[in-house]
Amino acid sequence: MPLINEIVNNKQQIQQWRHQLHSIPEIAFQEHKTADFVEQKLKNFGLKMYPRMAGTGVIASLSAGENKKAIALRADLDALPIIEKNNMHYCSTHKGMMHACGHDGHTSMLLGAAFYLSQHKNFNGTVYFVFQPAEENEGGGRKLVEEGFFKKFQIDAIYGMHNWPDLEVGKFAIRSGPVMAAYDVFDITINGKGGHAAAPHKTIDPIVISGAIIIALQNIISRQINPLDSAVISITKIRAGDSYNVIPETAFLSGTVRTFHPHIQKNIIKQLKHIVKSICKTYGATAEVEYQKRYPATINNIVETENAISAASEVVGDNNIIKNSPPSLGSEDFSFLLNECKGCYISIGNGSSASLHNSYYDFNDDILPIGVSYWVRLTQSQLS
Ligand SMILES: [Zn+2]
Ligand SMILES: [Zn+2]
Repeated sequence: MPLINEIVNNKQQIQQWRHQLHSIPEIAFQEHKTADFVEQKLKNFGLKMYPRMAGTGVIASLSAGENKKAIALRADLDALPIIEKNNMHYCSTHKGMMHACGHDGHTSMLLGAAFYLSQHKNFNGTVYFVFQPAEENEGGGRKLVEEGFFKKFQIDAIYGMHNWPDLEVGKFAIRSGPVMAAYDVFDITINGKGGHAAAPHKTIDPIVISGAIIIALQNIISRQINPLDSAVISITKIRAGDSYNVIPETAFLSGTVRTFHPHIQKNIIKQLKHIVKSICKTYGATAEVEYQKRYPATINNIVETENAISAASEVVGDNNIIKNSPPSLGSEDFSFLLNECKGCYISIGNGSSASLHNSYYDFNDDILPIGVSYWVRLTQSQLS
């Protein structure tokens, strides 16, 4: 069974919402205009509205029939602090902010599904529409959980969807188990002894020590982690010194760690701290390591993955579903929701667009009816 005709016929409307949202991008927890827009639409569709959660998060529900079963469909509202370099008529009007991850498209697709389902009520149960803030960096999903989202609403399964550049239009990619990595960050301060660059023997040079640490940290990946497992350590910031002839007192390194399994994450944290402290000690310096776990790994449940595959197959055909697609070392705060409730996160092909978070990226409007049809088929098959 292909796309739902009525949704295809409503594409102009959904696309108009997407363009409107694209023109007013707002970053994490500041999605006020976006949330107002979404809330107004849902009210017009006649959905049951709830008080906002996680600041700017909009929650609504729609029930039909007697079935007590409930599912939640989640979209993300936020944009990124990027200057848009596109020149479509609906470009960002908010300077320095841009929908460069397609959350304008995700929000519009979920609005499209809410509209269709509110018109037809051709399902049996309750569907919650979750428009969460701050997917990028700030963990809006975590905030929803902390504010008791899953205590307030009895939800049997939660589903998420993200567009994926370079995956063809009309295809979905999915797998059960880990799909996105845990995202951690760290800051290292190396305290040496500053002095004249021409008399290094009278100093403890934190820059040379930084070099040793940067190389040694990669040995964690190549020599401490089973080669069949995946993990990444990237140093992404280095800061030290202001002059040609002064060895500075301190150096700062920052970076990120990505893992799929908690035991590997734990091992990396231990090794990272051990290596930094040991190298500093060897050179007579001291170090502080601040390590923060940001997002957990995103792990799809087996049954819900099957549910998502069968709904997507109804829309685009089984041969257009890439099952067992390789996981990404990127991260996603849908993980906080999946930690609390069974569910599944699926990727929808965005075609050959610029990559996510690129200043030339744009969500592909051609996939709007595909995503909306998927949400509707998933709702109908899970609430029947
Ligand atoms: Zn993103
Ligand atoms: Zn995103």
